[in-house]
Amino acid sequence: MVPWGASSGRLLEHDFIGESQLVDLSIMRRFTFCAGHRLVGHEGKCQNLHGHNYAIEVYVTGGEQDDIGRILDFKLLKQRVNGWLNEHWDHTFILWDKDTNGLDAIRASQPHRIYELSSNPTAENMAIHFLDEICPVILDGTGAEAYKVRLWESEETCAEVTRTSE
Ligand SMILES: [Zn+2]
Repeated sequence: MVPWGASSGRLLEHDFIGESQLVDLSIMRRFTFCAGHRLVGHEGKCQNLHGHNYAIEVYVTGGEQDDIGRILDFKLLKQRVNGWLNEHWDHTFILWDKDTNGLDAIRASQPHRIYELSSNPTAENMAIHFLDEICPVILDGTGAEAYKVRLWESEETCAEVTRTSE
């Protein structure tokens, strides 16, 4: 077991060529899902209901590596994140909870799946919501925590949010 190395919270102490050094150690897994949304107040096409093939990258660190040398088993990370995505975001409409017109439109179709966000569903706001509110819940009890989320709205565009303090 390798203990915390420093106060930053992400650094671990490792021996390199016989010398103890601090390393910034993390793991990442990428997930994909499909969802619809729209951006209230957008000046262009994004004000209309439309969808994306999203990708989300979840960056995880931990206080220590286990006896095998892992921060967190990739399979467990996959199960926790995919479980949440399948239940809440995949094949849903992600809409701002103040977008009553959009919510009414989707609710009028049967069946439907809606995820209400407390902010306009930009890539930025979705990334913040996932890092701040979802990751602590789905990684609870694993000893690991997410510190960065990158949310890809297309192959060219993404938003990235990084936790800068504990
Ligand atoms: Zn969009």
